Amino acid sequence: PETITVQELASRMAARSGEVIKTLMKMGVMATINQTIDADTAELVVTEFGHNIKRVSEADVEIGLKGEEDAPEVLVPRSPVVTVMGHVDHGKTSLLDAIRTTDVAAREAGGITQHIGAYQVTVSNGRKITFIDTPGHEAFTAMRARGATVTDVVVLVVAADDGVMPQTIEAIRHAQAAQVPMIVAINKIDRADANPDRVRTELLQHGIVVEKLGGEVLDVEVSAVKRTNIEKLEELILLQADLLDLKSNPQRPAEGVVIEAKLERGRGAVATVLIQRGTLRMGDVFVTGSEWGRARLLLDDRGEKIEVATPGMPVEVLGLNGVPLAGDDFSVVENESRARDVTVFRTRRRRDQVQAAGQRGTVEEMLSQI
Ligand code: GDP
Ligand code: MG
Repeated sequence: PETITVQELASRMAARSGEVIKTLMKMGVMATINQTIDADTAELVVTEFGHNIKRVSEADVEIGLKGEEDAPEVLVPRSPVVTVMGHVDHGKTSLLDAIRTTDVAAREAGGITQHIGAYQVTVSNGRKITFIDTPGHEAFTAMRARGATVTDVVVLVVAADDGVMPQTIEAIRHAQAAQVPMIVAINKIDRADANPDRVRTELLQHGIVVEKLGGEVLDVEVSAVKRTNIEKLEELILLQADLLDLKSNPQRPAEGVVIEAKLERGRGAVATVLIQRGTLRMGDVFVTGSEWGRARLLLDDRGEKIEVATPGMPVEVLGLNGVPLAGDDFSVVENESRARDVTVFRTRRRRDQVQAAGQRGTVEEMLSQI
């Protein structure tokens, strides 16, 4: 994982180490000057110091890969992308399963079958929500380490019988560092020893003030197992999405992020891509990380063949020449020769960076813009 020492972080911000240590302490992290902290925590500190931070990903600007900004009039609403986080055994997987069963479209199609690293549910009013189906902080941080901001909303699952635990706090920090709004799902309320108010009070101690206690963080009591209040949770997600006013231009070459990728026997390199802008079509040539390909086959989250994928849709893409990494960006380009040029450039650039910066390359890079 990416790390940086307290001293190095302080010097990069031209701040006193003591101030950094004090800020860390306020965040509940005890660290000495020579200790290392992870990139997310570092980013949070940087934000606390009032600096803007931008993680450097690929040399997209240099090579002009990312398309220019869209004019406001071509933007249309897109569905929110949600990541579920929380302490182990608090019910992340159960909640994702429960949510999947609310999918109106899947029910109509006769059941929920295959799923990839993300899925989209259609809620009763016809609106859609995309869930990243790789719960846990690792996926979240791995993607952010590559500069990918995938998630619009974090659902923080806290078991009502267990309360705030170390990974709950970690999840809060990640969401805060990424500046992603949080919705608290107080789970397992069916249990006899459930104490949702205790969860709210404990969250308060970590700076999370839920609505019931007069704050602004949306919260809902759920039971993933009994399927209680799952629709209510979805409503809150859509409410939060409305506040964020999420929009995207579907009328342009596709851009997105790799959620997961692997080599599969008989299928070759396969990537699950979340489309963020534009429309991906069969036959499109694309670049992703240091790999490129031509979309030979597109499958939706139920394994059905599709011709196009639009913003907010997770899609399985076949036709890659290699396996990209989770969090790698994905961009459609004009033709194969352009795709080759970009990947050659990126491969060389990545190698140079690694040589220049040594092991801490990515952190150094990330902090170079403070
Ligand atoms: P994860 O580690 O956060 O993904 O948690 P899981 O979804 O695997 O759940 C851990 C355990 O808690 C499992 O035994 C679940 O059956 C149980 N569990 C999850 N949600 C609920 C709930 O709403 N009520 C009760 N009683 N048990 C739950
Ligand atoms: Mg799980």
